[in-house]
Amino acid sequence: MGLAVAAQLSERNEAVYVFEKNERFGQETSSHNSGVIHSGIHYPKDSLKANLCVKGNSMIYEICERYKIPYKKLGKLTVAIGEEEIEELEKLMQMGEDNGVKDLKFFDGIEVKKLEPKVEVEKALYSPSTGIVEPDELMNHFYAQIRNNRAIVATETEVTGLRKTDFGYELTGMSVGEKFMVEAKTVINCAGLYSDKIAAMIGLDVDKLGYRLHYCKGDYFRLSGRPPVKMLVYPVPKGPGLGIHLTPDLSGAVRLGPNTYYVNNIDYNVESSEKEFREDVRRFLPSILDYDIQIDSAGIRPKLQGPKDSFRDFVIRHEADKELFGFINLIGIESPGLTAAPAIGDFVSEMYENEIKR
Ligand SMILES: Cc1cc2nc3c(=O)[nH]c(=O)nc-3n(C[C@H](O)[C@H](O)[C@H](O)COP(=O)(O)OP(=O)(O)OC[C@H]3O[C@@H](n4cnc5c(N)ncnc54)[C@H](O)[C@@H]3O)c2cc1C
Repeated sequence: MGLAVAAQLSERNEAVYVFEKNERFGQETSSHNSGVIHSGIHYPKDSLKANLCVKGNSMIYEICERYKIPYKKLGKLTVAIGEEEIEELEKLMQMGEDNGVKDLKFFDGIEVKKLEPKVEVEKALYSPSTGIVEPDELMNHFYAQIRNNRAIVATETEVTGLRKTDFGYELTGMSVGEKFMVEAKTVINCAGLYSDKIAAMIGLDVDKLGYRLHYCKGDYFRLSGRPPVKMLVYPVPKGPGLGIHLTPDLSGAVRLGPNTYYVNNIDYNVESSEKEFREDVRRFLPSILDYDIQIDSAGIRPKLQGPKDSFRDFVIRHEADKELFGFINLIGIESPGLTAAPAIGDFVSEMYENEIKR
């Protein structure tokens, strides 16, 4: 998000800085995900998630075409078995259409088999505009734009203190082993899993405001041998994740995951068993039992939605009404954050131009 926002802001503004605590950008959530360009069927109408996903979907394809970034518009099948799941599928289709996803189609089990012979289900919702991209390539693109606009990405630079001043904000921390202090008129908090901590640093009561993040982990396994599917294949979502799905990467190799479990710490080791993954997936892909499965990786969702909560939207907010003029929070940017990234870049940049720069 920091790169996408800075790429946009630095088009028209001077002195844009991105502070990144790690040795390189994109080492956390943005490189621990499925790399799926979502279409926008999973989020309620008029939510930021819905609007920014639908807009981001077409923006990402345009960026990929224009800057020769590899991608594949593979299409996605969300599959259902039994009446209950078919009803859920119908709701997803309605939600997608409400959000402006106009190309969705229903397939029966025979039509599904023609597309994906190994998938055995009763119905499926086909979303042709779902695809995949390599997140690193997208981040490199935003980084190149930032450099081109003479803005700066300062790595190994961790913000540990924030204070409001007459000028704007004072940021302090450590940069490549040395203490630093800068003043900025505007601060945009894009700290991912740490964004609630940054909000707390400036004095916001994150519990009262509903900004406290819950870490929700998802593990991935990789299939070896000939890929069983060519498209993205998802179950009907149940609970806070989208369900263990099959995602081919740009080489065609297929990953399974992510599953969904809440954790207390940020630790990217895979903790789940291969058995859980096989059991889930065999419902719609019985031949999963014939495949070798290897541990792949894990990601952690920065969720505002706790284990017992219902849907929570992205928080993308100028906190002027809390006497923090020029302070913008981006909190809870979980999926579809990768898809929405260029649209979020536009959204925040417009917020800046219209409300702060004046
Ligand atoms: C398992 C999983 C699967 C997903 N799959 C998809 C998908 O298929 N499609 C999709 O659209 N989205 C997906 N997402 C969501 C997407 O990955 C995220 O929305 C997106 O990567 C969030 O980006 P970010 O910049 O907010 O966070 P991050 O990438 O985590 O970046 C935040 C950065 O801030 C830095 N930082 C934090 N604190 C400080 C500090 N104090 N000082 C300096 N730097 C700091 C961190 O080091 C980090 O690099 C998935 C997420 C997960 C976890």
